Amino acid sequence: METGGAPAPIRAAEALRKKLAKIGLHSEADLLLHLPLRYEDETCLTSVERALNGEAVQLELTVRHSEVQFRPRRQLVVRAADASGEITLRFFSFYPSQQAMLAEGARIRVFGEVRGGFFGLEMVHPRLRKIAEGEPLPAALTPVYPTTAGVGNGTLQKLIGAALAEAESANTLADTLPDELRQRLKLAGFARSLRFLHMPPPDADRDALQARQHPAWRRIKFDEVLAQQLSLRRAYLARRDQGAPVLRARDDLGARLLDSLPFGLTGAQTRALAEIGGDLAQPYPMQRLLQGDVGAGKTIVAALAACQAISAGWQAAFMAPTEILAEQHYLKLCDWLQPLGVRVAWLAGSLKSKAKREQLAAAAGEAQLVVGTHALIQDSVDFARLGLAIVDEQHRFGVAQRLALRKKGGNPHQLMMSATPIPRTLAMSYYADLDVTVLDELPPGRTPIKTRLVADNRRADVVGFVRKHVEEGRQAYWVCPLIEESEALQLQTAEETYAQLAAELPGLRVGLVHGRLKAGDKQAVMVAFAAGGIDVLVATTVIEVGVDVPNASLMVIEHAERFGLSQLHQLRGRVGRGRYESSCVLIYAGPLGEVARQRLKIIFEHSDGFEIARRDLQLRGPGEFVGARQSGVPLLRYADLEQDAELVELARTVAEEMLNAHPTLAAAHLRRWLGAREELLKS
Ligand code: ADP
Ligand code: MG
Repeated sequence: METGGAPAPIRAAEALRKKLAKIGLHSEADLLLHLPLRYEDETCLTSVERALNGEAVQLELTVRHSEVQFRPRRQLVVRAADASGEITLRFFSFYPSQQAMLAEGARIRVFGEVRGGFFGLEMVHPRLRKIAEGEPLPAALTPVYPTTAGVGNGTLQKLIGAALAEAESANTLADTLPDELRQRLKLAGFARSLRFLHMPPPDADRDALQARQHPAWRRIKFDEVLAQQLSLRRAYLARRDQGAPVLRARDDLGARLLDSLPFGLTGAQTRALAEIGGDLAQPYPMQRLLQGDVGAGKTIVAALAACQAISAGWQAAFMAPTEILAEQHYLKLCDWLQPLGVRVAWLAGSLKSKAKREQLAAAAGEAQLVVGTHALIQDSVDFARLGLAIVDEQHRFGVAQRLALRKKGGNPHQLMMSATPIPRTLAMSYYADLDVTVLDELPPGRTPIKTRLVADNRRADVVGFVRKHVEEGRQAYWVCPLIEESEALQLQTAEETYAQLAAELPGLRVGLVHGRLKAGDKQAVMVAFAAGGIDVLVATTVIEVGVDVPNASLMVIEHAERFGLSQLHQLRGRVGRGRYESSCVLIYAGPLGEVARQRLKIIFEHSDGFEIARRDLQLRGPGEFVGARQSGVPLLRYADLEQDAELVELARTVAEEMLNAHPTLAAAHLRRWLGAREELLKS
């Protein structure tokens, strides 16, 4: 598998090869890295008499009778026995070959869970093998492979065994880690580890093997993670070979924007801007992620980066995931930049066709900054000379959408922003191809947000609290209960909540905003709220991301137990943005499930987004966390980001070292682990 050229196809009949392809097994090399899911102990036999209900056992039997029954549904029913008693084997799906194997008089070994059925002992779908009289028992644990319909474990075992023998004799299992490195990291050899996992010797440490903690597993998991790191790192380096416009400010636009602000930048903002500014002046495309907790002030950093692009004679695009947010950015950016003479265009799905034509013409022509939603990446959009693409709340976009924006303007620099802090192991594993800047400081003068948990039987008190708050001149958000199953119900709930609060708060101006409002109406409500024309804004989670109204300093969330942690954190982050003391009231309805209780406890005790995200990861596991991002990254089959965090750390440094000092081995490693799949990643 080290030799270049096309990988050797699996030596099997065409029909079998097709089935194997379904589980991603195309070549002999794929077979080698197809490792057992678990192991079963088939080294000893039990007798029918001694088999216990619910226990997984192995029996050696002679078939007495075999027939296909049709009631209650089609099934193959086999009566078989050993010297101590009889048992029924049931198969609800079976192949003619299996039926033939189970003819009367056949000698078989079956492995499975015994159940005490109505008609005596039975096994449903045991694994089975025909044997010859007196055939010895296996001496070692039996690997159980991930398999597919029509391919038995035994078949896979044979194919893999043959592939392994072949590879060993052809000497293609050479280690891709230099000896010195392997010893330093105390990692087992590759070939040995592979053989060990496919064919564990009789004296193998069974617990370590099952728990995937054995040194052989450690080596394989390390290799897998290393391949991921190498591939991401290589993508990162490959980007440096592509050209991008060198964006050096040619006037004082940025300085004038800074002068016009009522505040100065925080140290963190200044540092971030310096990093971004440095990247933009390079002749290869920046791909930087700006992370900062909600309210950290990412928008102004982006605006100043845009100034650099504009002042260099290029365009900047600013894309946000929702129309409310995009609109808000648009208004703010106009506010900041139009007085300085910058031409800003606006693109969103809701634009009427005439306005749209005008804005498209602007993008293709004299506009210097184009703000919008996904509309920015549609085919009809042509940028005259896009130099910088900014993507806000990037985790809300899929990989494809971000790539599309990049392709829009040849090869613009990319600035991605996210308030969803990614725990370190995840970031290392899924964002290794990005540079990351963290805004680790909030603007000054923020008072911490007080979080309160209130049971729903005290809702009336909360309404009183809202009134008092408004009477002090502040504004409030009231987030409706989340109803994920049905959009119609969600809408109804929002309208009911609105009507109820309007009735409960006479004299106060209550507004409503939800996802189904027409874009224009949504905008009108948001503008009114921002201008202080609405006291209490009843809202669905459409306000979750980015919305910024400093005078709003109370956030009430009904049925808080239904929301996810990052949602709660984002929602809470809508307040605490001005100089007023802010609070967040989480109304919950009991009885609480364990996870919901944990979530509320975490959000109550913590305000730091990274800490919340870290705990969220523990609560949920990494799968859900990464979302769309996953589609572009080699998935891990064997390593586990949480459990094997230490390996990820290690692989990250080793990847760097390998690419520098051992490029040939690094390439061999990638070929071994990613093979053809690597092509996908380059797209
Ligand atoms: P986020 O990082 O969540 O996108 P925003 O960019 O919306 O945060 O900023 C939150 C609020 O803080 C805005 O009203 C913004 O104008 C304000 N802000 C940003 N930077 C500073 C600063 N250095 N000093 C004071 N206020 C700031
Ligand atoms: Mg923001």
